Amino acid sequence: MPIDFTLAPEHEEIRTRVRDFIQNVVQPAIKDFDSEETVLTRDEYITTIFQLREKAQAEGLWLPHMPKEWGGMGLGHVELAMVQAESGKTRLGPWILNCMAPDEGNMHTLLHWATDEQKEKYLKPLCAGHKMSCFAMTEPEVAGSDPTLIRTHAVKDGDEWIINGHKWFISNARRAQFAILVAKTELDVPEGSRGANTAFLIDIPTEGWNDVREVETMHGGTGHSEIVITDLRVHDRQILGGRGNGHRLGQYRLGPARLAHCMRWIAQAETALDMMVDRSLNRYSHGSLLAEKQGIQWMIADSAMELYQCKLMVLHAAYKIDRGDDFRTEVSMAKHFVANSLNRIIDRAIQVHGALGYSTDTPLANMFQHARWARFADGADEIHQMRIAERTISAYKDHGTTRAATGDLPV
Ligand SMILES: Cc1cc2nc3c(=O)[nH]c(=O)nc-3n(C[C@H](O)[C@H](O)[C@H](O)COP(=O)(O)OP(=O)(O)OC[C@H]3O[C@@H](n4cnc5c(N)ncnc54)[C@H](O)[C@@H]3O)c2cc1C
Repeated sequence: MPIDFTLAPEHEEIRTRVRDFIQNVVQPAIKDFDSEETVLTRDEYITTIFQLREKAQAEGLWLPHMPKEWGGMGLGHVELAMVQAESGKTRLGPWILNCMAPDEGNMHTLLHWATDEQKEKYLKPLCAGHKMSCFAMTEPEVAGSDPTLIRTHAVKDGDEWIINGHKWFISNARRAQFAILVAKTELDVPEGSRGANTAFLIDIPTEGWNDVREVETMHGGTGHSEIVITDLRVHDRQILGGRGNGHRLGQYRLGPARLAHCMRWIAQAETALDMMVDRSLNRYSHGSLLAEKQGIQWMIADSAMELYQCKLMVLHAAYKIDRGDDFRTEVSMAKHFVANSLNRIIDRAIQVHGALGYSTDTPLANMFQHARWARFADGADEIHQMRIAERTISAYKDHGTTRAATGDLPV
């Protein structure tokens, strides 16, 4: 079995172009966005972003995750990993290339599950960058880790459904023109049934969709809304993916979307490791540079080993998606490992920077606040561990060995 980690020349060319675009076009244009000295108006902020999006589109660096017939770059997941990792070097990079969450995952979902009419109305403008979307599943009253518990419910009334319920942490809701909303439609099925939920396409704003606040989090005001849904009426044709398929649709959506998060987190982890090494080469204490201290070298070495593992896991999971193999275990392992490595590597970078790392003079403190959510959004650590353990035990029961659950690699 040949194992080749080099990219085809045309893909290497794309990667280099994305890197140059992020470094030479995006970063200089947004350098004042987080500065305390320069206060930008909302109009200036939006105008800059839209100009950058137009440039990205003109250069063909647009929708790296979508097929060419939808205006995308037509990349496989392995190549996508390289592009996402380049775009993730700056917070707004994925936004400028139109491959940011939650739109990116919603595009995959619509491509796979929507009718032609729904694709025309929702996917087309999303790909063009004319519309934005959100995905509304989590609720404050029940554990988001178990979507079978969802209480938001839809009751049929002729050709329409009447929806009532409560959602929160709905990212991008205030910017979105539509939501993919998951609600319970099969009220008489036993508790825990995976066929009870249905996904609906909801145009917003609309009567009955009440965005009551953006939830304040440890990284400040965030764009994650709490929504109270009261007697919201939608037509039957707004069902996405068929009645009772809401759970399956959510799971399908999360596979590639989780891996796309990992690709962007790798970029953040690499930035933190670069900063850690740079600081250690420039800080002098007790007769030598920090880079010469064994305690600091261990932090650098642990981070380098973990980042290497992250990259291999993401590439292998992407390879499995591209081949059409069952990728659930690999994506779960990658999601868990990359999220936790990201947190550890940024934390070590802060440690090596001392008080400076704790300050907001470097991006590390902000990166650390953002990184914490990675351990529970899109599947909390413990849920991934539960699923990984289940599949490892089944592999052993079925084959007398756990090999199939550890990447099914020929070693
Ligand atoms: C920044 C951010 C953005 C988000 N964006 C969205 C969005 O756009 N749309 C959306 O629908 N949701 C969104 N979420 C919500 C996210 O998907 C949920 O936080 C996640 O699914 C976990 O659900 P929960 O918060 O209710 O935690 P819970 O399910 O209550 O879990 C709490 C803890 O208990 C653990 N736990 C739960 N069950 C088990 C078990 N069986 N065994 C062991 N441990 C268990 C979990 O691992 C976790 O550590 C977002 C969250 C954040 C923080």
